[in-house]
Amino acid sequence: MKYDLIVIGGGPAGYVGAIRAAQLGKKVACVELERAGGTCLNWGCIPTKSLLRNAELYHLLSHKADEFGFSFDNLSFDWSKVIGRSRKIADKLAGGIEFLFKKNKVDYILGKGNLVGDGKVEVEAADGSKSVIEGANVLVATGVTTREFPGFPFDGTRVIGSRDALALATQPKEIVIIGAGAIGVEFAYFFNAFGTKVTIVEMMPVILPVEDEEVSKTLEKSFSKSGIKVLSGTKTTGTKVTDTGVEITVEGKENTTIKADACLVAIGVKPLLPGGMEPELTDRGYIKTDDRYQTSIPNVYAAGDIIGPPWLAHVASYEAIQAVEGMFEGKQPKKVDIFPGCTYCQPQVASVGLTEKAAKDKGIAYKVGKFPFMASGKALATGESEGFVKLLYGEEHGEVIGAHIIGNEATELIAEMGLAITLEATVEDIEATIHAHPTLSEAIHEATGAAYGHAIHI
Ligand SMILES: Cc1cc2nc3c(=O)[nH]c(=O)nc-3n(C[C@H](O)[C@H](O)[C@H](O)COP(=O)(O)OP(=O)(O)OC[C@H]3O[C@@H](n4cnc5c(N)ncnc54)[C@H](O)[C@@H]3O)c2cc1C
Repeated sequence: MKYDLIVIGGGPAGYVGAIRAAQLGKKVACVELERAGGTCLNWGCIPTKSLLRNAELYHLLSHKADEFGFSFDNLSFDWSKVIGRSRKIADKLAGGIEFLFKKNKVDYILGKGNLVGDGKVEVEAADGSKSVIEGANVLVATGVTTREFPGFPFDGTRVIGSRDALALATQPKEIVIIGAGAIGVEFAYFFNAFGTKVTIVEMMPVILPVEDEEVSKTLEKSFSKSGIKVLSGTKTTGTKVTDTGVEITVEGKENTTIKADACLVAIGVKPLLPGGMEPELTDRGYIKTDDRYQTSIPNVYAAGDIIGPPWLAHVASYEAIQAVEGMFEGKQPKKVDIFPGCTYCQPQVASVGLTEKAAKDKGIAYKVGKFPFMASGKALATGESEGFVKLLYGEEHGEVIGAHIIGNEATELIAEMGLAITLEATVEDIEATIHAHPTLSEAIHEATGAAYGHAIHI
């Protein structure tokens, strides 16, 4: 039997691409090395968000109980249950994807997929046995894995990556996190909330360096206030594993050697190429694709993390759908342009579109409107009034060009601004839209007014 499509990798690119092709009536197989759902569901987006929810609740009870009028004698937690809850949720969701495969009649094949030419994929099962399946098209969606710090290999307990951190048997008393992108920052919040002493080291001048600088600086202040030691603008110059933990030497904001039980390395990722995808078909290991997501091998397509940044689940799924609809419906696929980026620490950070720096670099004249959550009734009622909404409007036409939110539920609020950019909404459109009261979304309405000097509540 020949498949219409063989997908290699069952993450947000692979499983979504496979299901979309099946919806279009195609005969599809999805070859997955570990578990359906990929990094995102098993070792990324979902288990981290489960842990962060625990952290938020524990932080609320341990720091704000009195403010809310609660009192209790002994607040404690069971680390194994905190981790266990996260693992259970990941397991449930991965099972959900396996169910969706069945429902959509996608053949789910466990094993390592390698391209062996002419639409053939060799599948190597866990027991070493090999079989070959054949498809008219192949979609490579094999993703990436965590990058090690040079000369400091992962050992699972003292030198760890995000995957180890998601399943640590015991809570570290002290941890150093190298790298303050979204993953490093989320773990810094998580460990600190549970009382681990956290130092986060970032080479760039601010944490979350891809975000709007004002947002990054606000988060840095909030983290410092909550007890996290933030060493931005600081280089890691030495790493050592000792009998009891690690020693990390840094230079920059401070020149010092930090001793800790463990070091979480969160400095980035490296591609996971299947066999048969030769290095010359890649750009520094990431698969090169054309405007139809096709690789240099005819009828072999690629989507998701394996084709390079941004390494985000929603972008991976979008690319896979575009690739599959291009393959089977003859549509011209769209490439990724505007996408939201979210970090789920507290306060949360979310953005879409241009930062001020990017607008300036592009020579776009803009107006800024800002509204603090301190002036939002809903934020005050919730007890989470840190942060602000900052919106950028093009000066000439008044269209939304960028949105930057730091605060409670920022990652939910950003969706409105993504849609606004897609629809080329202007300041008039946002102002003419009645936002419910009291909601955090009113801050978007008010920030819009603020750009033109007519916000009511500031
Ligand atoms: C700790 C952490 C937190 C994250 N949080 C977020 C978040 O909040 N939001 C967000 O958008 N993104 C987040 N991400 C990133 C997100 O997980 C990825 O962008 C997303 O999973 C990419 O999807 P993908 O399908 O391209 O790759 P993956 O999800 O990595 O899936 C690739 C799959 O291919 C399989 N595979 C690899 N090689 C082979 C082979 N040869 N044969 C068969 N199968 C193979 C792998 O086992 C894997 O299951 C996070 C990542 C991490 C590590």
